[in-house]
Amino acid sequence: MPSYERQFDETTLIQRDGHRGAFRYEEAMLRASDARFALHWLTAHAPPAGCALNYCDLASADYDRQQQLWRLELRDRLGDAGATARARLIVNCTGVWVDELNAQCGIESPYRHALSKGVYLGLPREEGHHSPLIFDMGTNGDVMTCVPWGPVALWGPTETAIDSIEAGLAPDASDLHFLLETANQHLRREVQAADIVSLRCGIRALAVKRDYVADRYPLELSRRSIVHADRERPWISVYGGKLTGCRELAAQIRSRIAARVSPALADTRTGDVADPEMELSRFPGIDQPLPSPQWCRDHEFCCTLEDYLRRRTNISQWLPRQGLGHDNENRAALLAVAQVFHGEDAEAALTRYEQQVETQHDRLLAGLDTDR
Ligand SMILES: Cc1cc2nc3c(=O)[nH]c(=O)nc-3n(C[C@H](O)[C@H](O)[C@H](O)COP(=O)(O)OP(=O)(O)OC[C@H]3O[C@@H](n4cnc5c(N)ncnc54)[C@H](O)[C@@H]3O)c2cc1C
Repeated sequence: MPSYERQFDETTLIQRDGHRGAFRYEEAMLRASDARFALHWLTAHAPPAGCALNYCDLASADYDRQQQLWRLELRDRLGDAGATARARLIVNCTGVWVDELNAQCGIESPYRHALSKGVYLGLPREEGHHSPLIFDMGTNGDVMTCVPWGPVALWGPTETAIDSIEAGLAPDASDLHFLLETANQHLRREVQAADIVSLRCGIRALAVKRDYVADRYPLELSRRSIVHADRERPWISVYGGKLTGCRELAAQIRSRIAARVSPALADTRTGDVADPEMELSRFPGIDQPLPSPQWCRDHEFCCTLEDYLRRRTNISQWLPRQGLGHDNENRAALLAVAQVFHGEDAEAALTRYEQQVETQHDRLLAGLDTDR
């Protein structure tokens, strides 16, 4: 039950002015990260029941009305290989890309996505910071959060309506200015651009009617999911939703698939499962053991250096400059990881990664210092 607290462990970390205590409440948290949570849904199922293909695009889909089958052209984005598959039903759950894929495959729908960009800063976590802190912004019902996560605390998010996916793929200077300003309004320590360990940027896909006119602050839009089945062809589109409601959403879609394809599917288990016994390894600067690169390569569809640093571990979000370190001190450790995934091309793969760090992190933060 929510309770009122005048003092709490983190009282010393926040601005004294205007602080009138807090409500404490509990909800759910993910064990390791959102990326590993998503991964567990896939690793729990092995062929023939399930066959997860990452780096695989659905390039086109044609429906054969006579056979009542979809013919799918799949494209491997890492290699050059293509493949053809057949399907009795397609579930388009491609997040912000749902509308794009529907258009590409000729599917019309009464719904679409409105897009809202959200950015977080990863700041060094302060001693005594145990619980997520949520600050009321006083406008639009908006809040800012400061969530402890390993050696960092995530400060954010922003909430910006955008009209294309491209506009939300990376943070910009105005996002970072806003986040630094609000952090300095609420946190007792001073936070500057040089303190930023990492950046997270995502696009919220919000389900709206097709004729929605983007005239509202995105927080006013519902975060609920909508599942829409096409009337003519076996194609289900999934709009909106959140991680917190994803089990219910999955169960709803599963029963629709069962009704259409095979009742046996209704009993298939879904959801987060415990990690199997995994091989662990260490990475400089991170206290806790991490799944080893070899383990992730052999058991978790991990194909690239970036997969490992960003999606199988939190290295690129917990250590400065996407894991390289302030002064490139982790370069040798990254090269050892790159060798597991890229073999003889490890040095070239690491160089590409360094270029990415320069454009996505270094230049953005350097520009911020100049602005000031
Ligand atoms: C800033 C921010 C804060 C959030 N906070 C919360 C929160 O506090 N709580 C909460 O519950 N939720 C939160 N969410 C929402 C949550 O992150 C999303 O609901 C969730 O990530 C959506 O997952 P998804 O699987 O639907 O889409 P995605 O994770 O986007 O997955 C879609 C997948 O489809 C793939 N794809 C796209 N096109 C194709 C194609 N043509 N062929 C093959 N594959 C394709 C993509 O590569 C991608 O892997 C937040 C989101 C953001 C952006």
